[in-house]
Amino acid sequence: MTMAPARVLSRLEVLAAAARDDLDALSYPDRSWLRPRNGPDGRPVDDVLIVGGGQSGVIIAAHLKREGLERVAVLDRCEPGEEGPWRTFARMSELRTPKTTVGNEFGIVNLSVRRWYETRYGAAAWAALDRIPRTDWKDYLDWYADVTGVRIENRTLVTDIAQAGDLVRVDTLVGNKPHARFARTVVIATGFDGAGAWRAPDFIRAALPRRAYDHSNGPIDFARLQGKRVGILGHGASAFDNAITALRAGAASAEVSFRRARLPRVNPHRAIETAGLMSHFPALADATRWRIARFFREKDQPPPMTAFNKALALPGFRLRPATPWTSVALEGEAIRVETPHGPLTYDHLILATGAVIDLDARPELKTLASRVALWSDRYAPGPDEEDARLAALPYLDEGYGFVPKATDEDWVGRVFAFNGLSVVSHGPHSTSISGHRHALPRVVRGVTRRLLVDHERDVLPDLAAYWSDDLPIPDDFEDRTAD
Ligand SMILES: Cc1cc2nc3c(=O)[nH]c(=O)nc-3n(C[C@H](O)[C@H](O)[C@H](O)COP(=O)(O)OP(=O)(O)OC[C@H]3O[C@@H](n4cnc5c(N)ncnc54)[C@H](O)[C@@H]3O)c2cc1C
Repeated sequence: MTMAPARVLSRLEVLAAAARDDLDALSYPDRSWLRPRNGPDGRPVDDVLIVGGGQSGVIIAAHLKREGLERVAVLDRCEPGEEGPWRTFARMSELRTPKTTVGNEFGIVNLSVRRWYETRYGAAAWAALDRIPRTDWKDYLDWYADVTGVRIENRTLVTDIAQAGDLVRVDTLVGNKPHARFARTVVIATGFDGAGAWRAPDFIRAALPRRAYDHSNGPIDFARLQGKRVGILGHGASAFDNAITALRAGAASAEVSFRRARLPRVNPHRAIETAGLMSHFPALADATRWRIARFFREKDQPPPMTAFNKALALPGFRLRPATPWTSVALEGEAIRVETPHGPLTYDHLILATGAVIDLDARPELKTLASRVALWSDRYAPGPDEEDARLAALPYLDEGYGFVPKATDEDWVGRVFAFNGLSVVSHGPHSTSISGHRHALPRVVRGVTRRLLVDHERDVLPDLAAYWSDDLPIPDDFEDRTAD
Protein backbone atom coordinates (compact mmCIF):
# COMPACT_ATOMS: atom_id res chain seq x y z
CA MET A 1 0.00 0.00 0.00
CA THR A 2 1.17 3.55 -0.72
CA MET A 3 1.81 4.96 2.74
CA ALA A 4 -0.49 7.87 3.58
CA PRO A 5 0.43 10.54 6.18
CA ALA A 6 -0.67 9.81 9.77
CA ARG A 7 -3.53 12.36 9.73
CA VAL A 8 -4.94 10.75 6.55
CA LEU A 9 -4.66 7.30 8.11
CA SER A 10 -6.57 8.47 11.13
CA ARG A 11 -9.28 9.99 8.90
CA LEU A 12 -9.52 6.63 7.11
CA GLU A 13 -9.83 4.89 10.46
CA VAL A 14 -12.72 7.19 11.36
CA LEU A 15 -14.34 6.34 8.02
CA ALA A 16 -13.76 2.63 8.66
CA ALA A 17 -15.52 2.92 12.02
CA ALA A 18 -18.45 4.75 10.38
CA ALA A 19 -18.68 2.09 7.65
CA ARG A 20 -18.68 -0.68 10.27
CA ASP A 21 -21.47 1.12 12.15
CA ASP A 22 -23.47 1.33 8.92
CA LEU A 23 -22.90 -2.35 8.19
CA ASP A 24 -24.01 -3.18 11.69
CA ALA A 25 -27.14 -1.03 11.44
CA LEU A 26 -28.17 -2.83 8.25
CA SER A 27 -27.04 -6.30 9.23
CA TYR A 28 -30.41 -8.10 9.43
CA PRO A 29 -30.50 -11.11 9.07
CA ASP A 30 -26.84 -12.01 9.55
CA ARG A 31 -27.46 -14.80 12.08
CA SER A 32 -25.40 -17.90 11.48
CA TRP A 33 -27.54 -20.71 10.00
CA LEU A 34 -25.26 -23.68 9.32
CA ARG A 35 -24.23 -26.12 12.02
CA PRO A 36 -20.44 -26.19 12.45
CA ARG A 37 -19.07 -29.40 11.02
CA ASN A 38 -15.74 -31.18 10.94
CA GLY A 39 -14.18 -32.70 7.84
CA PRO A 40 -12.55 -36.13 7.46
CA ASP A 41 -9.38 -34.61 8.96
CA GLY A 42 -11.26 -33.70 12.15
CA ARG A 43 -10.90 -29.97 11.48
CA PRO A 44 -13.80 -27.50 10.99
CA VAL A 45 -14.87 -27.29 7.34
CA ASP A 46 -15.24 -23.98 5.54
CA ASP A 47 -18.82 -23.07 4.60
CA VAL A 48 -17.37 -21.43 1.52
CA LEU A 49 -13.80 -21.57 0.32
CA ILE A 50 -12.94 -18.89 -2.23
CA VAL A 51 -10.00 -19.48 -4.58
CA GLY A 52 -8.52 -16.06 -5.36
CA GLY A 53 -8.25 -12.93 -3.23
CA GLY A 54 -8.63 -10.37 -6.01
CA GLN A 55 -11.52 -7.90 -5.95
CA SER A 56 -14.07 -10.63 -6.72
CA GLY A 57 -12.89 -12.99 -3.98
CA VAL A 58 -12.84 -10.25 -1.36
CA ILE A 59 -16.20 -8.74 -2.27
CA ILE A 60 -17.93 -12.13 -2.56
CA ALA A 61 -16.55 -13.06 0.88
CA ALA A 62 -17.85 -9.80 2.36
CA HIS A 63 -21.31 -10.47 0.87
CA LEU A 64 -21.38 -14.07 2.09
CA LYS A 65 -20.47 -13.06 5.63
CA ARG A 66 -23.48 -10.73 5.59
CA GLU A 67 -25.61 -13.71 4.62
CA GLY A 68 -24.85 -15.38 7.95
CA LEU A 69 -21.95 -17.58 6.85
CA GLU A 70 -19.25 -17.65 9.49
CA ARG A 71 -16.56 -19.78 7.92
CA VAL A 72 -15.61 -18.11 4.65
CA ALA A 73 -11.98 -18.66 3.63
CA VAL A 74 -10.16 -16.72 0.89
CA LEU A 75 -6.97 -18.26 -0.49
CA ASP A 76 -4.53 -16.63 -2.87
CA ARG A 77 -1.29 -17.91 -4.33
CA CYS A 78 0.43 -14.53 -4.32
CA GLU A 79 2.24 -12.42 -1.76
CA PRO A 80 0.12 -10.15 0.48
CA GLY A 81 -0.87 -7.01 -1.43
CA GLU A 82 -0.18 -8.52 -4.85
CA GLU A 83 -3.67 -9.93 -5.41
CA GLY A 84 -5.14 -9.15 -8.82
CA PRO A 85 -3.32 -7.21 -11.53
CA TRP A 86 -3.22 -3.83 -9.80
CA ARG A 87 0.26 -3.70 -8.24
CA THR A 88 2.00 -6.18 -10.49
CA PHE A 89 1.45 -6.27 -14.24
CA ALA A 90 -1.30 -3.64 -14.75
CA ARG A 91 0.61 -0.66 -16.16
CA MET A 92 -2.07 1.98 -16.74
CA SER A 93 -2.04 5.02 -14.50
CA GLU A 94 -5.79 4.91 -13.90
CA LEU A 95 -8.63 2.40 -14.08
CA ARG A 96 -10.31 1.72 -17.37
CA THR A 97 -13.70 1.90 -15.63
CA PRO A 98 -15.45 5.26 -15.08
CA LYS A 99 -15.26 6.48 -11.47
CA THR A 100 -19.06 6.50 -11.22
CA THR A 101 -19.26 2.71 -11.57
CA VAL A 102 -20.36 1.46 -8.17
CA GLY A 103 -21.70 -1.75 -6.73
CA ASN A 104 -19.47 -3.45 -4.18
CA GLU A 105 -20.49 -1.30 -1.20
CA PHE A 106 -23.95 -2.74 -0.36
CA GLY A 107 -25.47 0.72 -0.90
CA ILE A 108 -23.43 1.98 2.09
CA VAL A 109 -21.87 5.30 1.17
CA ASN A 110 -19.22 5.12 3.91
CA LEU A 111 -17.95 1.89 2.36
CA SER A 112 -17.79 3.33 -1.16
CA VAL A 113 -14.65 4.12 -3.12
CA ARG A 114 -15.89 7.68 -3.54
CA ARG A 115 -16.05 8.33 0.20
CA TRP A 116 -12.69 6.58 0.65
CA TYR A 117 -11.07 8.76 -2.02
CA GLU A 118 -12.62 11.97 -0.69
CA THR A 119 -11.41 11.07 2.80
CA ARG A 120 -7.91 10.46 1.56
CA TYR A 121 -7.53 13.32 -0.93
CA GLY A 122 -10.47 15.70 -0.41
CA ALA A 123 -13.81 16.23 -2.15
CA ALA A 124 -12.29 18.61 -4.72
CA ALA A 125 -9.81 15.92 -5.77
CA TRP A 126 -12.67 13.48 -6.38
CA ALA A 127 -14.61 16.09 -8.36
CA ALA A 128 -11.56 16.75 -10.54
CA LEU A 129 -10.94 13.05 -11.12
CA ASP A 130 -11.91 11.30 -14.33
CA ARG A 131 -10.97 7.73 -13.41
CA ILE A 132 -9.64 6.26 -10.17
CA PRO A 133 -5.84 5.87 -10.12
CA ARG A 134 -4.93 2.19 -10.39
CA THR A 135 -2.96 1.86 -7.15
CA ASP A 136 -5.56 3.83 -5.21
CA TRP A 137 -8.13 1.26 -6.31
CA LYS A 138 -6.02 -1.50 -4.77
CA ASP A 139 -5.42 0.56 -1.62
CA TYR A 140 -9.20 0.92 -1.40
CA LEU A 141 -9.75 -2.83 -1.89
CA ASP A 142 -7.31 -3.56 0.95
CA TRP A 143 -9.15 -1.08 3.20
CA TYR A 144 -12.49 -2.65 2.16
CA ALA A 145 -11.23 -6.13 3.11
CA ASP A 146 -10.13 -4.81 6.48
CA VAL A 147 -13.44 -3.04 7.18
CA THR A 148 -15.54 -6.06 6.19
CA GLY A 149 -13.31 -8.48 8.12
CA VAL A 150 -12.12 -10.47 5.10
CA ARG A 151 -8.70 -12.02 5.65
CA ILE A 152 -6.77 -13.43 2.72
CA GLU A 153 -4.60 -16.52 3.25
CA ASN A 154 -1.68 -15.71 0.95
CA ARG A 155 1.06 -17.89 -0.61
CA THR A 156 -1.55 -20.65 -0.93
CA LEU A 157 -1.87 -22.20 -4.37
CA VAL A 158 -4.97 -24.31 -5.02
CA THR A 159 -3.87 -27.37 -6.98
CA ASP A 160 -7.07 -29.41 -7.22
CA ILE A 161 -10.76 -29.39 -6.32
CA ALA A 162 -12.44 -32.78 -5.92
CA GLN A 163 -15.31 -34.59 -4.25
CA ALA A 164 -15.08 -35.78 -0.64
CA GLY A 165 -18.47 -37.37 0.13
CA ASP A 166 -20.90 -34.49 0.53
CA LEU A 167 -18.00 -32.04 0.91
CA VAL A 168 -15.45 -30.65 -1.50
CA ARG A 169 -11.76 -31.35 -1.00
CA VAL A 170 -9.43 -28.53 -1.93
CA ASP A 171 -5.77 -29.43 -2.34
CA THR A 172 -3.31 -26.63 -1.73
CA LEU A 173 0.37 -25.93 -1.62
CA VAL A 174 1.14 -23.59 1.25
CA GLY A 175 4.65 -22.40 0.65
CA ASN A 176 5.66 -25.66 -0.96
CA LYS A 177 3.89 -27.93 1.50
CA PRO A 178 0.81 -29.88 0.34
CA HIS A 179 -2.24 -29.41 2.51
CA ALA A 180 -5.80 -30.66 1.91
CA ARG A 181 -8.77 -28.82 3.34
CA PHE A 182 -12.50 -29.39 3.17
CA ALA A 183 -15.38 -27.07 2.35
CA ARG A 184 -19.12 -27.25 1.82
CA THR A 185 -18.88 -25.09 -1.29
CA VAL A 186 -16.09 -23.51 -3.35
CA VAL A 187 -16.07 -20.32 -5.42
CA ILE A 188 -13.35 -20.07 -8.05
CA ALA A 189 -12.52 -16.37 -8.38
CA THR A 190 -9.25 -16.68 -10.25
CA GLY A 191 -9.66 -13.80 -12.67
CA PHE A 192 -10.06 -13.37 -16.39
CA ASP A 193 -7.23 -15.82 -17.07
CA GLY A 194 -8.99 -18.37 -14.82
CA ALA A 195 -10.13 -20.19 -17.97
CA GLY A 196 -6.57 -20.61 -19.21
CA ALA A 197 -3.48 -18.44 -19.13
CA TRP A 198 -1.89 -15.23 -20.32
CA ARG A 199 0.15 -17.02 -22.97
CA ALA A 200 2.04 -15.93 -26.08
CA PRO A 201 0.67 -17.33 -29.38
CA ASP A 202 2.00 -20.80 -30.24
CA PHE A 203 3.78 -19.69 -33.45
CA ILE A 204 5.86 -17.24 -31.42
CA ARG A 205 6.64 -19.67 -28.60
CA ALA A 206 7.70 -22.27 -31.14
CA ALA A 207 10.01 -19.94 -33.09
CA LEU A 208 11.71 -17.76 -30.48
CA PRO A 209 13.72 -18.24 -27.31
CA ARG A 210 11.88 -17.08 -24.18
CA ARG A 211 14.19 -14.08 -23.70
CA ALA A 212 12.98 -12.57 -27.01
CA TYR A 213 9.40 -11.92 -25.90
CA ASP A 214 7.10 -11.20 -22.96
CA HIS A 215 3.38 -11.34 -22.51
CA SER A 216 1.92 -7.92 -21.70
CA ASN A 217 0.20 -9.33 -18.60
CA GLY A 218 3.29 -10.66 -16.92
CA PRO A 219 6.45 -9.31 -15.35
CA ILE A 220 8.62 -7.38 -17.82
CA ASP A 221 12.09 -6.02 -17.14
CA PHE A 222 11.63 -2.68 -18.91
CA ALA A 223 15.16 -1.54 -18.01
CA ARG A 224 16.37 -4.19 -20.47
CA LEU A 225 14.48 -2.44 -23.28
CA GLN A 226 16.52 0.76 -23.18
CA GLY A 227 17.50 1.74 -26.73
CA LYS A 228 15.62 -1.28 -28.14
CA ARG A 229 13.03 -1.52 -30.91
CA VAL A 230 9.93 -3.06 -29.35
CA GLY A 231 7.24 -4.77 -31.43
CA ILE A 232 3.84 -5.14 -29.77
CA LEU A 233 1.07 -7.41 -31.07
CA GLY A 234 -2.56 -6.59 -30.25
CA HIS A 235 -4.56 -3.39 -29.95
CA GLY A 236 -6.18 -3.67 -26.53
CA ALA A 237 -5.53 -1.37 -23.60
CA SER A 238 -2.51 -3.40 -22.48
CA ALA A 239 -0.79 -2.89 -25.86
CA PHE A 240 -0.88 0.86 -25.32
CA ASP A 241 0.03 0.69 -21.62
CA ASN A 242 3.08 -1.44 -22.38
CA ALA A 243 4.15 0.79 -25.28
CA ILE A 244 3.98 3.82 -22.99
CA THR A 245 5.94 2.05 -20.24
CA ALA A 246 8.60 0.83 -22.70
CA LEU A 247 9.09 4.27 -24.28
CA ARG A 248 9.24 5.98 -20.90
CA ALA A 249 11.86 3.42 -19.85
CA GLY A 250 13.99 4.50 -22.82
CA ALA A 251 13.00 2.11 -25.64
CA ALA A 252 13.99 3.53 -29.03
CA SER A 253 10.59 2.71 -30.53
CA ALA A 254 7.37 0.86 -29.75
CA GLU A 255 5.15 -0.25 -32.61
CA VAL A 256 1.67 -1.65 -32.10
CA SER A 257 0.59 -4.07 -34.86
CA PHE A 258 -2.87 -5.52 -35.25
CA ARG A 259 -4.95 -7.39 -37.79
CA ARG A 260 -7.95 -5.03 -38.08
CA ALA A 261 -7.96 -2.25 -40.65
CA ARG A 262 -8.78 0.31 -37.96
CA LEU A 263 -9.08 0.41 -34.19
CA PRO A 264 -12.53 -0.29 -32.78
CA ARG A 265 -14.24 3.02 -32.02
CA VAL A 266 -17.19 1.76 -29.97
CA ASN A 267 -17.05 -0.02 -26.62
CA PRO A 268 -19.82 -2.66 -26.71
CA HIS A 269 -19.41 -3.24 -22.96
CA ARG A 270 -21.15 0.08 -22.36
CA ALA A 271 -24.08 -1.12 -24.50
CA ILE A 272 -24.87 -4.06 -22.24
CA GLU A 273 -24.38 -2.17 -18.97
CA THR A 274 -28.10 -1.95 -18.27
CA ALA A 275 -29.78 -3.12 -15.08
CA GLY A 276 -31.93 -5.58 -17.05
CA LEU A 277 -29.09 -7.27 -18.89
CA MET A 278 -26.61 -7.25 -16.04
CA SER A 279 -29.10 -8.59 -13.47
CA HIS A 280 -30.70 -11.29 -15.58
CA PHE A 281 -28.15 -12.22 -18.22
CA PRO A 282 -28.42 -15.99 -17.62
CA ALA A 283 -32.18 -15.83 -18.24
CA LEU A 284 -31.43 -15.12 -21.91
CA ALA A 285 -31.80 -17.99 -24.36
CA ASP A 286 -28.67 -20.02 -25.12
CA ALA A 287 -28.64 -18.73 -28.69
CA THR A 288 -28.72 -15.09 -27.54
CA ARG A 289 -25.92 -15.59 -25.01
CA TRP A 290 -23.84 -17.43 -27.58
CA ARG A 291 -24.31 -14.63 -30.12
CA ILE A 292 -23.43 -11.97 -27.55
CA ALA A 293 -20.18 -13.81 -26.74
CA ARG A 294 -19.37 -14.07 -30.45
CA PHE A 295 -20.21 -10.41 -30.97
CA PHE A 296 -17.72 -9.40 -28.27
CA ARG A 297 -15.04 -11.62 -29.78
CA GLU A 298 -15.63 -10.11 -33.19
CA LYS A 299 -15.97 -6.44 -32.27
CA ASP A 300 -13.66 -6.07 -29.27
CA GLN A 301 -13.28 -2.70 -27.55
CA PRO A 302 -11.15 0.37 -28.21
CA PRO A 303 -8.20 1.27 -25.97
CA PRO A 304 -9.01 3.90 -23.33
CA MET A 305 -8.69 7.46 -24.64
CA THR A 306 -6.06 8.47 -22.07
CA ALA A 307 -3.72 5.61 -22.98
CA PHE A 308 -4.30 6.21 -26.70
CA ASN A 309 -3.46 9.94 -26.43
CA LYS A 310 -0.46 9.38 -24.18
CA ALA A 311 1.00 6.78 -26.53
CA LEU A 312 0.46 8.90 -29.63
CA ALA A 313 2.22 11.83 -28.00
CA LEU A 314 5.40 9.84 -27.35
CA PRO A 315 8.22 9.97 -29.92
CA GLY A 316 8.97 6.47 -31.18
CA PHE A 317 5.34 5.28 -31.00
CA ARG A 318 3.73 3.94 -34.13
CA LEU A 319 0.45 2.21 -34.95
CA ARG A 320 0.44 -0.50 -37.63
CA PRO A 321 -3.16 -1.39 -38.52
CA ALA A 322 -3.96 -4.24 -40.93
CA THR A 323 -0.63 -5.82 -39.98
CA PRO A 324 -1.06 -9.41 -38.78
CA TRP A 325 2.18 -11.20 -37.94
CA THR A 326 2.40 -14.35 -40.02
CA SER A 327 5.69 -15.71 -38.68
CA VAL A 328 8.68 -14.69 -36.58
CA ALA A 329 12.34 -15.74 -36.60
CA LEU A 330 15.56 -14.83 -34.86
CA GLU A 331 18.17 -13.15 -37.10
CA GLY A 332 21.29 -12.78 -35.03
CA GLU A 333 20.07 -10.86 -31.97
CA ALA A 334 17.19 -9.22 -33.88
CA ILE A 335 13.70 -10.60 -34.50
CA ARG A 336 12.28 -10.65 -37.99
CA VAL A 337 8.49 -10.48 -38.14
CA GLU A 338 6.77 -11.36 -41.43
CA THR A 339 3.64 -9.39 -42.36
CA PRO A 340 1.59 -9.03 -45.55
CA HIS A 341 3.35 -5.67 -46.09
CA GLY A 342 6.86 -7.07 -45.78
CA PRO A 343 9.15 -7.82 -42.83
CA LEU A 344 9.55 -5.78 -39.64
CA THR A 345 12.61 -5.93 -37.41
CA TYR A 346 12.57 -5.65 -33.62
CA ASP A 347 14.83 -6.33 -30.64
CA HIS A 348 12.05 -7.47 -28.32
CA LEU A 349 8.38 -8.47 -28.63
CA ILE A 350 5.50 -7.84 -26.23
CA LEU A 351 2.40 -9.93 -26.86
CA ALA A 352 -0.75 -8.09 -25.85
CA THR A 353 -2.82 -10.99 -27.07
CA GLY A 354 -4.97 -11.59 -23.98
CA ALA A 355 -5.70 -14.91 -22.34
CA VAL A 356 -5.95 -18.26 -24.08
CA ILE A 357 -8.76 -20.61 -23.09
CA ASP A 358 -7.15 -23.82 -21.94
CA LEU A 359 -8.77 -25.56 -18.98
CA ASP A 360 -5.84 -28.00 -18.83
CA ALA A 361 -3.52 -25.11 -17.96
CA ARG A 362 -5.33 -24.57 -14.64
CA PRO A 363 -4.19 -26.84 -11.80
CA GLU A 364 -7.35 -26.19 -9.80
CA LEU A 365 -9.53 -27.54 -12.65
CA LYS A 366 -7.75 -30.85 -13.22
CA THR A 367 -10.49 -32.99 -11.64
CA LEU A 368 -13.40 -30.73 -12.56
CA ALA A 369 -12.58 -30.13 -16.25
CA SER A 370 -13.79 -33.50 -17.55
CA ARG A 371 -16.80 -33.64 -15.19
CA VAL A 372 -18.58 -30.36 -15.94
CA ALA A 373 -20.95 -29.67 -18.82
CA LEU A 374 -19.46 -27.41 -21.48
CA TRP A 375 -21.20 -25.22 -24.01
CA SER A 376 -20.21 -27.83 -26.61
CA ASP A 377 -22.31 -30.38 -24.65
CA ARG A 378 -25.36 -28.15 -24.37
CA TYR A 379 -25.58 -25.95 -27.45
CA ALA A 380 -25.20 -26.59 -31.15
CA PRO A 381 -24.60 -23.32 -33.03
CA GLY A 382 -25.39 -22.96 -36.71
CA PRO A 383 -22.57 -23.74 -39.15
CA ASP A 384 -21.57 -20.08 -39.54
CA GLU A 385 -21.72 -19.44 -35.78
CA GLU A 386 -19.28 -22.05 -34.53
CA ASP A 387 -16.49 -21.04 -32.17
CA ALA A 388 -14.28 -23.73 -30.64
CA ARG A 389 -12.88 -21.31 -28.09
CA LEU A 390 -16.30 -20.45 -26.65
CA ALA A 391 -17.57 -24.04 -26.96
CA ALA A 392 -14.79 -25.16 -24.56
CA LEU A 393 -16.19 -23.01 -21.74
CA PRO A 394 -18.43 -24.48 -19.01
CA TYR A 395 -22.20 -24.22 -19.21
CA LEU A 396 -22.98 -22.72 -15.79
CA ASP A 397 -26.28 -22.48 -13.95
CA GLU A 398 -27.96 -19.20 -12.96
CA GLY A 399 -25.83 -18.92 -9.80
CA TYR A 400 -22.45 -19.52 -11.52
CA GLY A 401 -22.54 -23.18 -10.38
CA PHE A 402 -21.04 -25.92 -12.54
CA VAL A 403 -23.53 -28.30 -14.11
CA PRO A 404 -22.51 -31.98 -14.06
CA LYS A 405 -21.74 -33.69 -17.35
CA ALA A 406 -22.97 -37.01 -15.91
CA THR A 407 -25.91 -37.39 -13.53
CA ASP A 408 -23.82 -39.06 -10.79
CA GLU A 409 -21.51 -36.04 -10.46
CA ASP A 410 -23.94 -33.74 -8.66
CA TRP A 411 -21.11 -32.60 -6.36
CA VAL A 412 -19.73 -30.30 -9.10
CA GLY A 413 -22.73 -28.03 -8.40
CA ARG A 414 -21.05 -27.17 -5.07
CA VAL A 415 -18.37 -25.38 -7.06
CA PHE A 416 -18.98 -21.95 -8.62
CA ALA A 417 -16.98 -20.25 -11.36
CA PHE A 418 -16.92 -16.47 -10.97
CA ASN A 419 -14.07 -15.93 -13.39
CA GLY A 420 -13.15 -16.15 -17.09
CA LEU A 421 -15.00 -19.48 -17.30
CA SER A 422 -18.34 -17.68 -17.03
CA VAL A 423 -18.25 -15.32 -20.02
CA VAL A 424 -20.72 -17.15 -22.26
CA SER A 425 -23.11 -18.21 -19.47
CA HIS A 426 -23.11 -14.91 -17.56
CA GLY A 427 -21.87 -12.28 -20.01
CA PRO A 428 -18.62 -10.40 -20.29
CA HIS A 429 -18.89 -8.13 -17.25
CA SER A 430 -19.22 -10.40 -14.17
CA THR A 431 -15.81 -9.90 -12.62
CA SER A 432 -15.28 -6.31 -13.77
CA ILE A 433 -16.06 -3.39 -11.53
CA SER A 434 -19.08 -2.62 -13.71
CA GLY A 435 -20.51 -6.08 -12.99
CA HIS A 436 -20.29 -6.05 -9.22
CA ARG A 437 -23.67 -4.61 -8.40
CA HIS A 438 -25.65 -7.08 -10.47
CA ALA A 439 -23.46 -10.16 -10.94
CA LEU A 440 -22.21 -10.62 -7.38
CA PRO A 441 -25.70 -11.14 -5.90
CA ARG A 442 -26.18 -14.00 -8.40
CA VAL A 443 -23.18 -15.95 -7.16
CA VAL A 444 -24.04 -15.18 -3.53
CA ARG A 445 -27.56 -16.55 -4.10
CA GLY A 446 -26.15 -19.54 -5.97
CA VAL A 447 -23.90 -20.43 -3.06
CA THR A 448 -26.45 -19.84 -0.29
CA ARG A 449 -29.11 -21.76 -2.27
CA ARG A 450 -26.85 -24.79 -2.58
CA LEU A 451 -25.90 -24.59 1.10
CA LEU A 452 -29.58 -24.51 2.07
CA VAL A 453 -30.48 -27.44 -0.17
CA ASP A 454 -27.54 -29.47 1.20
CA HIS A 455 -28.59 -28.55 4.74
CA GLU A 456 -32.30 -29.36 4.25
CA ARG A 457 -32.19 -32.44 6.50
CA ASP A 458 -31.36 -30.14 9.46
CA VAL A 459 -34.15 -27.64 8.83
CA LEU A 460 -37.05 -29.43 10.60
CA PRO A 461 -34.98 -30.72 13.55
CA ASP A 462 -33.56 -27.20 13.99
CA LEU A 463 -37.07 -25.74 13.89
CA ALA A 464 -38.29 -28.25 16.49
CA ALA A 465 -35.29 -27.61 18.73
CA TYR A 466 -35.53 -23.82 18.49
CA TRP A 467 -36.01 -22.15 21.84
CA SER A 468 -36.16 -18.48 22.68
CA ASP A 469 -37.84 -16.98 25.73
CA ASP A 470 -39.94 -14.55 23.73
CA LEU A 471 -42.72 -14.36 26.38
CA PRO A 472 -40.85 -14.49 29.71
CA ILE A 473 -43.70 -15.21 32.17
CA PRO A 474 -43.77 -17.91 34.90
CA ASP A 475 -44.49 -21.47 33.69
CA ASP A 476 -47.60 -21.76 35.91
CA PHE A 477 -49.06 -18.45 34.67
CA GLU A 478 -52.01 -19.96 32.78
CA ASP A 479 -52.92 -22.20 35.78
CA ARG A 480 -53.05 -19.19 38.07
CA THR A 481 -55.34 -17.17 35.76
CA ALA A 482 -57.64 -20.21 35.48
CA ASP A 483 -58.30 -20.07 39.29
C1 LIG B 1 -4.03 -4.98 -17.00
C2 LIG B 1 -5.45 -5.10 -16.61
C3 LIG B 1 -6.20 -3.97 -16.32
C4 LIG B 1 -7.54 -4.06 -15.97
N1 LIG B 1 -8.24 -2.93 -15.69
C5 LIG B 1 -9.55 -3.03 -15.34
C6 LIG B 1 -10.32 -1.88 -15.01
O1 LIG B 1 -9.84 -0.76 -15.03
N2 LIG B 1 -11.61 -2.04 -14.66
C7 LIG B 1 -12.18 -3.28 -14.58
O2 LIG B 1 -13.35 -3.39 -14.23
N3 LIG B 1 -11.47 -4.38 -14.89
C8 LIG B 1 -10.20 -4.29 -15.27
N4 LIG B 1 -9.49 -5.41 -15.60
C9 LIG B 1 -10.16 -6.68 -15.59
C10 LIG B 1 -9.74 -7.21 -14.23
O3 LIG B 1 -8.95 -8.35 -14.35
C11 LIG B 1 -10.80 -7.34 -13.27
O4 LIG B 1 -11.74 -6.34 -13.16
C12 LIG B 1 -10.32 -7.71 -11.86
O5 LIG B 1 -8.95 -7.91 -11.71
C13 LIG B 1 -11.06 -8.97 -11.66
O6 LIG B 1 -10.94 -9.32 -10.34
P1 LIG B 1 -10.96 -10.84 -9.92
O7 LIG B 1 -10.86 -10.85 -8.45
O8 LIG B 1 -12.11 -11.52 -10.57
O9 LIG B 1 -9.65 -11.47 -10.58
P2 LIG B 1 -8.12 -11.08 -10.30
O10 LIG B 1 -8.03 -9.66 -9.88
O11 LIG B 1 -7.37 -11.49 -11.50
O12 LIG B 1 -7.72 -11.97 -9.07
C14 LIG B 1 -7.60 -13.37 -9.16
C15 LIG B 1 -6.74 -13.85 -8.02
O13 LIG B 1 -6.75 -15.27 -8.03
C16 LIG B 1 -5.47 -15.73 -7.63
N5 LIG B 1 -5.33 -17.11 -8.12
C17 LIG B 1 -5.41 -17.54 -9.39
N6 LIG B 1 -5.26 -18.88 -9.46
C18 LIG B 1 -5.10 -19.31 -8.19
C19 LIG B 1 -4.91 -20.60 -7.61
N7 LIG B 1 -4.90 -21.72 -8.34
N8 LIG B 1 -4.75 -20.68 -6.26
C20 LIG B 1 -4.78 -19.56 -5.50
N9 LIG B 1 -4.96 -18.32 -6.00
C21 LIG B 1 -5.13 -18.20 -7.33
C22 LIG B 1 -4.52 -14.76 -8.26
O14 LIG B 1 -3.28 -14.72 -7.59
C23 LIG B 1 -5.29 -13.43 -8.15
O15 LIG B 1 -4.91 -12.66 -7.04
C24 LIG B 1 -8.15 -5.32 -15.92
C25 LIG B 1 -7.39 -6.47 -16.21
C26 LIG B 1 -6.06 -6.36 -16.54
C27 LIG B 1 -5.30 -7.60 -16.85
